Amino acid sequence: MNSILRTVLDGQLGSWLAAHGQPAFRRRQIERWIASGADEFEAMSDLPKSLREALRGAFVLRQSHVVRHQHDPDGTEKLLLEWSDGQRIEGVLLRDAQRRTVCISTQVGCAMGCVFCASGLSGLERNLRREEILEQVLRLQACLGDDERLSHVVVMGMGEPLANLDELLPALDFLASPDGLGISARRITLSTVGLPAAIRRLARHARPYRLAISLHAADDTLRSRLIPVNRSIGIAAVVEAADDYFRASGRRLTFEYTLLGGINDRASDACRLATLLEGRTALINLIPYNPVPGLPYPTPRPADVRRFRDILEEAGIDTQIRKRRGAAIEAACGQLRRAEAETLSSGGGVE
Ligand code: SAH
Repeated sequence: MNSILRTVLDGQLGSWLAAHGQPAFRRRQIERWIASGADEFEAMSDLPKSLREALRGAFVLRQSHVVRHQHDPDGTEKLLLEWSDGQRIEGVLLRDAQRRTVCISTQVGCAMGCVFCASGLSGLERNLRREEILEQVLRLQACLGDDERLSHVVVMGMGEPLANLDELLPALDFLASPDGLGISARRITLSTVGLPAAIRRLARHARPYRLAISLHAADDTLRSRLIPVNRSIGIAAVVEAADDYFRASGRRLTFEYTLLGGINDRASDACRLATLLEGRTALINLIPYNPVPGLPYPTPRPADVRRFRDILEEAGIDTQIRKRRGAAIEAACGQLRRAEAETLSSGGGVE
Protein backbone atom coordinates (compact mmCIF):
# COMPACT_ATOMS: atom_id res chain seq x y z
CA MET A 1 0.00 0.00 0.00
CA ASN A 2 1.15 3.57 -0.65
CA SER A 3 2.70 5.64 2.08
CA ILE A 4 0.83 8.86 2.76
CA LEU A 5 4.06 10.37 4.10
CA ARG A 6 5.65 9.71 0.71
CA THR A 7 2.65 11.20 -1.11
CA VAL A 8 2.87 14.35 1.02
CA LEU A 9 6.65 14.67 0.58
CA ASP A 10 6.31 14.22 -3.19
CA GLY A 11 3.68 16.99 -3.28
CA GLN A 12 1.09 14.54 -4.62
CA LEU A 13 -1.57 14.71 -1.92
CA GLY A 14 -3.34 17.65 -3.59
CA SER A 15 -3.83 15.78 -6.84
CA TRP A 16 -5.02 12.65 -5.04
CA LEU A 17 -7.62 14.73 -3.20
CA ALA A 18 -8.71 16.43 -6.42
CA ALA A 19 -9.08 13.06 -8.13
CA HIS A 20 -11.32 12.00 -5.25
CA GLY A 21 -13.53 15.08 -5.50
CA GLN A 22 -12.20 16.68 -2.32
CA PRO A 23 -11.72 20.40 -1.76
CA ALA A 24 -8.12 21.68 -1.83
CA PHE A 25 -8.13 22.79 1.82
CA ARG A 26 -8.20 19.16 2.95
CA ARG A 27 -4.52 18.91 2.08
CA ARG A 28 -3.50 21.37 4.80
CA GLN A 29 -5.76 19.62 7.30
CA ILE A 30 -4.20 16.23 6.59
CA GLU A 31 -0.65 17.59 6.63
CA ARG A 32 -1.32 19.21 9.98
CA TRP A 33 -2.49 15.87 11.37
CA ILE A 34 0.58 14.15 10.00
CA ALA A 35 2.93 16.77 11.49
CA SER A 36 1.23 16.52 14.87
CA GLY A 37 1.88 12.79 14.88
CA ALA A 38 -1.50 11.22 14.06
CA ASP A 39 -0.80 7.55 13.41
CA GLU A 40 -4.28 6.56 12.25
CA PHE A 41 -6.71 8.19 9.85
CA GLU A 42 -9.57 7.62 12.29
CA ALA A 43 -8.03 10.26 14.59
CA MET A 44 -8.31 12.99 11.93
CA SER A 45 -11.53 14.23 13.46
CA ASP A 46 -12.15 17.24 11.22
CA LEU A 47 -12.25 15.10 8.06
CA PRO A 48 -15.52 13.59 6.87
CA LYS A 49 -15.86 9.93 7.73
CA SER A 50 -16.01 8.96 4.04
CA LEU A 51 -12.67 10.67 3.38
CA ARG A 52 -11.05 9.02 6.38
CA GLU A 53 -12.20 5.66 5.03
CA ALA A 54 -10.97 6.42 1.52
CA LEU A 55 -7.57 7.42 2.93
CA ARG A 56 -7.42 4.24 4.98
CA GLY A 57 -8.19 2.21 1.86
CA ALA A 58 -5.45 3.91 -0.15
CA PHE A 59 -2.60 4.66 2.25
CA VAL A 60 -0.65 3.59 5.30
CA LEU A 61 0.56 6.12 7.88
CA ARG A 62 3.38 4.03 9.34
CA GLN A 63 5.67 1.47 7.74
CA SER A 64 7.98 0.56 10.60
CA HIS A 65 7.46 -1.23 13.84
CA VAL A 66 9.23 -0.40 17.07
CA VAL A 67 11.48 -3.33 17.95
CA ARG A 68 12.86 -1.71 21.07
CA HIS A 69 12.24 1.47 23.05
CA GLN A 70 14.85 2.29 25.69
CA HIS A 71 15.01 4.99 28.35
CA ASP A 72 18.16 6.35 29.96
CA PRO A 73 17.95 7.92 33.42
CA ASP A 74 19.31 11.17 31.90
CA GLY A 75 16.11 11.54 29.83
CA THR A 76 17.50 10.14 26.58
CA GLU A 77 15.27 7.68 24.72
CA LYS A 78 16.22 5.43 21.87
CA LEU A 79 14.04 3.66 19.31
CA LEU A 80 15.05 0.69 17.23
CA LEU A 81 12.79 0.59 14.15
CA GLU A 82 12.38 -2.23 11.67
CA TRP A 83 11.14 -1.77 8.10
CA SER A 84 9.21 -4.34 6.11
CA ASP A 85 12.41 -5.59 4.43
CA GLY A 86 13.80 -6.46 7.86
CA GLN A 87 16.35 -3.61 7.90
CA ARG A 88 16.73 -1.81 11.18
CA ILE A 89 17.75 1.69 12.15
CA GLU A 90 17.95 3.69 15.33
CA GLY A 91 16.93 7.17 16.30
CA VAL A 92 17.50 9.00 19.57
CA LEU A 93 15.62 11.67 21.51
CA LEU A 94 17.69 13.91 23.78
CA ARG A 95 16.46 16.18 26.53
CA ASP A 96 18.57 19.12 27.65
CA ALA A 97 16.89 21.87 29.68
CA GLN A 98 14.17 23.17 27.31
CA ARG A 99 15.82 21.65 24.27
CA ARG A 100 14.32 18.53 22.69
CA THR A 101 16.58 17.12 20.00
CA VAL A 102 16.17 14.10 17.78
CA CYS A 103 19.23 12.44 16.29
CA ILE A 104 18.29 10.59 13.13
CA SER A 105 19.76 8.07 10.71
CA THR A 106 19.81 8.45 6.94
CA GLN A 107 21.16 5.10 5.80
CA VAL A 108 21.20 1.50 6.96
CA GLY A 109 24.94 1.09 7.49
CA CYS A 110 27.40 3.47 5.86
CA ALA A 111 29.89 3.36 2.99
CA MET A 112 32.39 5.91 4.34
CA GLY A 113 34.38 3.38 6.33
CA CYS A 114 35.52 5.57 9.26
CA VAL A 115 37.66 3.07 11.12
CA PHE A 116 36.43 3.92 14.62
CA CYS A 117 32.68 4.11 13.90
CA ALA A 118 30.26 1.25 14.45
CA SER A 119 27.84 2.34 11.71
CA GLY A 120 30.05 1.43 8.78
CA LEU A 121 31.54 -1.82 10.05
CA SER A 122 29.63 -3.91 7.52
CA GLY A 123 29.32 -1.32 4.79
CA LEU A 124 26.17 0.19 3.35
CA GLU A 125 22.95 -1.83 3.20
CA ARG A 126 20.74 0.82 1.66
CA ASN A 127 19.61 4.42 1.75
CA LEU A 128 16.58 5.32 3.81
CA ARG A 129 13.68 6.68 1.78
CA ARG A 130 12.30 10.14 2.46
CA GLU A 131 9.14 8.76 4.08
CA GLU A 132 11.24 6.54 6.35
CA ILE A 133 13.32 9.52 7.47
CA LEU A 134 10.16 11.48 8.26
CA GLU A 135 8.55 8.52 10.02
CA GLN A 136 11.62 8.19 12.22
CA VAL A 137 11.21 11.80 13.38
CA LEU A 138 7.46 11.34 13.96
CA ARG A 139 8.04 8.20 16.02
CA LEU A 140 10.62 10.01 18.17
CA GLN A 141 8.35 13.04 18.49
CA ALA A 142 5.63 10.72 19.81
CA CYS A 143 7.89 9.96 22.80
CA LEU A 144 7.48 13.56 24.00
CA GLY A 145 5.04 14.48 26.72
CA ASP A 146 2.17 16.94 26.19
CA ASP A 147 4.22 19.80 27.65
CA GLU A 148 7.26 19.14 25.44
CA ARG A 149 7.98 20.31 21.91
CA LEU A 150 10.53 19.05 19.43
CA SER A 151 13.00 21.92 18.96
CA HIS A 152 16.11 20.57 17.19
CA VAL A 153 17.09 17.90 14.68
CA VAL A 154 20.62 16.57 14.25
CA VAL A 155 21.34 14.27 11.34
CA MET A 156 24.12 12.44 13.18
CA GLY A 157 22.82 8.90 13.40
CA MET A 158 23.69 6.04 11.11
CA GLY A 159 24.87 6.86 7.61
CA GLU A 160 26.36 9.73 5.65
CA PRO A 161 23.60 12.31 5.12
CA LEU A 162 25.32 13.94 2.16
CA ALA A 163 25.37 10.62 0.33
CA ASN A 164 21.57 10.52 0.47
CA LEU A 165 20.53 14.12 -0.16
CA ASP A 166 17.85 13.21 -2.72
CA GLU A 167 15.84 11.49 -0.01
CA LEU A 168 16.95 13.54 2.98
CA LEU A 169 16.15 17.03 1.70
CA PRO A 170 12.42 16.51 1.02
CA ALA A 171 12.06 15.06 4.55
CA LEU A 172 14.00 17.93 6.17
CA ASP A 173 12.05 20.49 4.15
CA PHE A 174 8.82 19.12 5.64
CA LEU A 175 10.32 19.35 9.13
CA ALA A 176 11.32 22.96 8.45
CA SER A 177 8.14 24.03 6.70
CA PRO A 178 5.56 26.07 8.62
CA ASP A 179 3.02 23.69 7.03
CA GLY A 180 4.99 20.74 8.41
CA LEU A 181 6.70 20.56 11.80
CA GLY A 182 7.79 24.20 11.71
CA ILE A 183 11.30 23.63 13.07
CA SER A 184 13.59 26.48 12.02
CA ALA A 185 16.26 25.45 9.50
CA ARG A 186 18.83 26.96 11.90
CA ARG A 187 17.91 24.21 14.35
CA ILE A 188 18.46 21.39 11.87
CA THR A 189 22.09 20.24 11.58
CA LEU A 190 23.59 17.83 9.08
CA SER A 191 26.85 16.20 10.04
CA THR A 192 29.07 15.07 7.20
CA VAL A 193 32.36 13.41 6.57
CA GLY A 194 32.86 16.23 4.05
CA LEU A 195 31.82 15.46 0.46
CA PRO A 196 32.65 18.66 -1.46
CA ALA A 197 30.21 18.28 -4.38
CA ALA A 198 27.31 17.54 -2.04
CA ILE A 199 28.31 20.43 0.26
CA ARG A 200 28.09 22.78 -2.73
CA ARG A 201 24.71 21.34 -3.68
CA LEU A 202 23.49 21.95 -0.14
CA ALA A 203 24.77 25.52 -0.33
CA ARG A 204 22.43 26.10 -3.28
CA HIS A 205 19.45 24.60 -1.46
CA ALA A 206 16.69 27.02 -0.52
CA ARG A 207 16.80 26.30 3.20
CA PRO A 208 19.96 27.14 5.17
CA TYR A 209 20.47 24.02 7.24
CA ARG A 210 23.42 23.97 9.57
CA LEU A 211 26.38 21.91 8.53
CA ALA A 212 28.93 20.25 10.80
CA ILE A 213 32.00 18.76 9.18
CA SER A 214 33.76 15.80 10.72
CA LEU A 215 37.46 16.56 10.49
CA HIS A 216 39.13 14.26 13.06
CA ALA A 217 42.61 15.15 11.82
CA ALA A 218 44.41 18.19 10.43
CA ASP A 219 46.76 16.36 8.06
CA ASP A 220 45.91 14.07 5.18
CA THR A 221 47.99 11.09 6.27
CA LEU A 222 46.16 10.77 9.57
CA ARG A 223 42.76 11.76 8.20
CA SER A 224 42.96 9.17 5.41
CA ARG A 225 43.83 6.53 7.99
CA LEU A 226 40.77 7.42 10.07
CA ILE A 227 38.39 8.31 7.22
CA PRO A 228 39.35 6.22 4.17
CA VAL A 229 37.14 8.26 1.83
CA ASN A 230 39.50 11.18 2.50
CA ARG A 231 42.09 9.56 0.22
CA SER A 232 40.19 10.69 -2.84
CA ILE A 233 39.15 14.07 -1.38
CA GLY A 234 41.85 15.60 0.83
CA ILE A 235 41.49 18.10 3.66
CA ALA A 236 42.14 21.17 1.51
CA ALA A 237 39.10 20.39 -0.67
CA VAL A 238 36.93 19.74 2.39
CA VAL A 239 37.88 23.03 4.06
CA GLU A 240 37.43 24.92 0.79
CA ALA A 241 33.92 23.51 0.33
CA ALA A 242 33.18 24.34 3.96
CA ASP A 243 34.31 27.93 3.38
CA ASP A 244 31.99 28.16 0.38
CA TYR A 245 29.08 26.77 2.37
CA PHE A 246 29.51 29.11 5.24
CA ARG A 247 30.03 32.07 2.89
CA ALA A 248 26.70 31.20 1.23
CA SER A 249 24.85 30.65 4.51
CA GLY A 250 26.55 33.44 6.46
CA ARG A 251 27.16 31.18 9.43
CA ARG A 252 30.29 30.22 11.22
CA LEU A 253 32.02 26.96 10.47
CA THR A 254 31.38 23.98 12.72
CA PHE A 255 33.80 21.10 12.79
CA GLU A 256 33.57 17.87 14.71
CA TYR A 257 36.68 16.20 15.98
CA THR A 258 36.47 12.78 17.60
CA LEU A 259 39.40 12.37 19.99
CA LEU A 260 41.05 8.95 19.98
CA GLY A 261 43.54 8.39 22.81
CA GLY A 262 47.15 8.70 21.61
CA ILE A 263 46.12 8.85 17.94
CA ASN A 264 44.85 12.34 17.23
CA ASP A 265 44.65 13.95 20.69
CA ARG A 266 48.26 15.08 21.16
CA ALA A 267 49.31 18.69 21.64
CA SER A 268 50.89 18.64 18.18
CA ASP A 269 47.53 17.55 16.67
CA ALA A 270 45.77 20.47 18.37
CA CYS A 271 48.41 22.93 17.12
CA ARG A 272 48.10 21.61 13.56
CA LEU A 273 44.32 21.96 13.76
CA ALA A 274 44.63 25.52 15.06
CA THR A 275 46.93 26.36 12.14
CA LEU A 276 44.58 24.74 9.61
CA LEU A 277 41.63 26.79 10.81
CA GLU A 278 43.54 30.00 11.38
CA GLY A 279 41.64 33.12 10.40
CA ARG A 280 38.24 31.42 10.34
CA THR A 281 35.35 31.92 12.70
CA ALA A 282 34.97 28.30 13.56
CA LEU A 283 33.42 26.26 16.32
CA ILE A 284 35.03 22.94 17.15
CA ASN A 285 33.04 20.18 18.77
CA LEU A 286 35.38 17.75 20.47
CA ILE A 287 33.87 14.29 20.89
CA PRO A 288 35.80 12.02 23.26
CA TYR A 289 35.75 8.59 21.65
CA ASN A 290 33.00 6.23 22.71
CA PRO A 291 34.50 2.77 22.65
CA VAL A 292 32.93 0.40 20.15
CA PRO A 293 33.13 -3.27 21.19
CA GLY A 294 35.64 -5.09 19.03
CA LEU A 295 37.50 -1.97 17.88
CA PRO A 296 40.97 -1.23 19.25
CA TYR A 297 40.72 2.55 19.73
CA PRO A 298 41.33 4.00 23.19
CA THR A 299 39.24 6.68 24.85
CA PRO A 300 41.27 9.86 25.40
CA ARG A 301 42.41 10.80 28.90
CA PRO A 302 40.38 13.68 30.35
CA ALA A 303 43.55 15.74 30.88
CA ASP A 304 44.46 15.32 27.18
CA VAL A 305 40.94 16.38 26.15
CA ARG A 306 41.28 19.56 28.25
CA ARG A 307 44.75 20.27 26.87
CA PHE A 308 43.45 19.90 23.33
CA ARG A 309 40.62 22.34 24.07
CA ASP A 310 42.95 24.83 25.75
CA ILE A 311 45.33 24.93 22.79
CA LEU A 312 42.44 25.66 20.40
CA GLU A 313 40.93 28.26 22.71
CA GLU A 314 44.29 29.99 23.07
CA ALA A 315 44.46 30.15 19.28
CA GLY A 316 41.10 31.96 19.34
CA ILE A 317 38.93 29.06 18.17
CA ASP A 318 35.69 28.42 20.09
CA THR A 319 35.75 24.87 21.35
CA GLN A 320 33.16 22.69 23.06
CA ILE A 321 33.60 19.27 24.57
CA ARG A 322 30.52 17.25 23.80
CA LYS A 323 28.77 15.70 26.77
CA ARG A 324 28.12 12.03 26.70
CA ARG A 325 24.40 11.25 26.69
CA GLY A 326 22.37 8.08 26.86
CA ALA A 327 25.31 6.02 28.07
CA ALA A 328 23.15 3.51 29.91
CA ILE A 329 21.23 2.63 26.75
CA GLU A 330 24.20 2.78 24.40
CA ALA A 331 22.72 5.81 22.71
CA ALA A 332 26.10 7.49 22.44
CA CYS A 333 27.83 8.55 19.26
CA GLY A 334 28.85 5.91 16.83
CA GLN A 335 27.27 2.95 18.56
CA LEU A 336 24.23 2.78 16.32
CA ARG A 337 25.19 0.01 13.99
CA ARG A 338 25.66 -2.45 16.82
CA ALA A 339 21.91 -2.68 17.22
CA GLU A 340 21.82 -4.64 14.01
CA ALA A 341 23.62 -7.52 15.59
CA GLU A 342 21.17 -9.26 17.88
CA THR A 343 23.86 -10.61 20.14
CA LEU A 344 25.23 -7.19 20.92
CA SER A 345 21.86 -5.94 22.18
CA SER A 346 21.64 -2.37 21.01
CA GLY A 347 23.49 0.63 19.72
CA GLY A 348 22.73 4.28 19.91
CA GLY A 349 22.90 7.57 18.28
CA VAL A 350 24.16 10.55 20.01
CA GLU A 351 26.35 12.42 22.33
N1 SAH B 1 28.42 10.48 8.61
C1 SAH B 1 28.29 11.68 9.41
C2 SAH B 1 27.51 11.44 10.71
C3 SAH B 1 28.24 10.51 11.62
S1 SAH B 1 27.86 10.54 13.37
C4 SAH B 1 29.66 12.25 9.72
O1 SAH B 1 30.64 11.57 9.45
O2 SAH B 1 29.75 13.37 10.22
C5 SAH B 1 28.39 12.08 13.96
C6 SAH B 1 29.83 12.16 14.49
O3 SAH B 1 30.16 11.14 15.42
C7 SAH B 1 30.86 12.08 13.39
O4 SAH B 1 31.79 13.11 13.57
C8 SAH B 1 31.49 10.73 13.63
O5 SAH B 1 32.79 10.62 13.11
C9 SAH B 1 31.46 10.66 15.14
N2 SAH B 1 31.60 9.30 15.69
C10 SAH B 1 31.30 8.13 15.11
N3 SAH B 1 31.58 7.10 15.94
C11 SAH B 1 32.04 7.65 17.07
C12 SAH B 1 32.48 7.09 18.31
N4 SAH B 1 32.45 5.79 18.53
N5 SAH B 1 32.89 7.95 19.28
C13 SAH B 1 32.89 9.28 19.06
N6 SAH B 1 32.47 9.85 17.91
C14 SAH B 1 32.06 9.04 16.93
